[in-house]
Amino acid sequence: MTVQAGLPQVTVFSLGGTIASTNDSGGDAGGVTPRLGARELVDSVPQLREVAELETVAFRRTASGDLTLRDLVSLATEITKRFESGTAGVVVTQGTDTIEETSFALDLLVRGPRPVVVTGAMRNPTLAGPDGPANLLAAVQVAASPQAAGLGTLVVFGDEIHAARFVRKTHTSSPATFRSLTAGPLGWMVEGRPRIAFRAPELQGKPTAVGDEVPAVALLKLTIGDDSRLVEQVAALGYAGLVVEAFGGGHVPARVVPALEHLAGRLPVVLASRTGGGELLRETYGFPGSERDLLSRGLIPAGFLDGPKARILLSLLLATGAGPASVRDAFEQVNVSVTAHTAA
Ligand code: ASP
Repeated sequence: MTVQAGLPQVTVFSLGGTIASTNDSGGDAGGVTPRLGARELVDSVPQLREVAELETVAFRRTASGDLTLRDLVSLATEITKRFESGTAGVVVTQGTDTIEETSFALDLLVRGPRPVVVTGAMRNPTLAGPDGPANLLAAVQVAASPQAAGLGTLVVFGDEIHAARFVRKTHTSSPATFRSLTAGPLGWMVEGRPRIAFRAPELQGKPTAVGDEVPAVALLKLTIGDDSRLVEQVAALGYAGLVVEAFGGGHVPARVVPALEHLAGRLPVVLASRTGGGELLRETYGFPGSERDLLSRGLIPAGFLDGPKARILLSLLLATGAGPASVRDAFEQVNVSVTAHTAA
């Protein structure tokens, strides 16, 4: 198969994960580990040569839980350089465990309309029916498509096209693990073509000039019968902020409220829902520990962002040196930008 003239240029960055994981023996002794780089992944899918002119960058080779926000700030810088030098679109391959976080970080860090598409695999290349090659092909088809411009960072997986701001991993092993519970996917693939059914508005409130040092932000999921011991430790442990994943529309046990209010007087404390879908309530319940109570005590509403995504936004804002008022404002702007065309 020959490379076709006039194809868009797409850069593929590999970071490791299941899509790149094999072993020496071909058997399963010792398990698979990330070994393949972007060049090997691309070479294993000959159809890619008909879609784009490909540049490959083996950026990291790791399990995705070992990636850091610092890695993502560096990756965003590399992506920006590629866009400045004319690349039409970028694909990032990585482990699926943290795609919901890394893709949202790239959504916040990369500027401009050109597509960044994140993908991976649930079945590694040593298994029957690995999904990596089909996901990589679809991701490049989306990244090379003018229709994908201006949609923010996308996650393409199992022939569905998701907005990074909504997508979550929802299953430990199913290839249909990625879901956007609140908004649904933006589109799908058919016969190698992206179909975009819904356009996500451009995100406002993105952090600007993010430094290399990203302060630590804790994420705490509250559970039935919880007390305030962990909340009381957050500042002493050196965290620069806290995201609380609360029950339902944004509720915590009443006994945790004083510690949260005290902490919110010292650090940004963001209130998110642990449900995984829908938007945080603001004005429905009035009991102690309700969303109204907590917001009136200085907690910042995460809006439609779930806990892990709210933590990414808060971390990157703090990495710009943003103070409490700017953090509150940025959360508001991100939320307003996503729902700007609907009634308040
Ligand atoms: N199970 C993961 C994956 O799907 C491993 C990782 O996230 O690195 O790629």
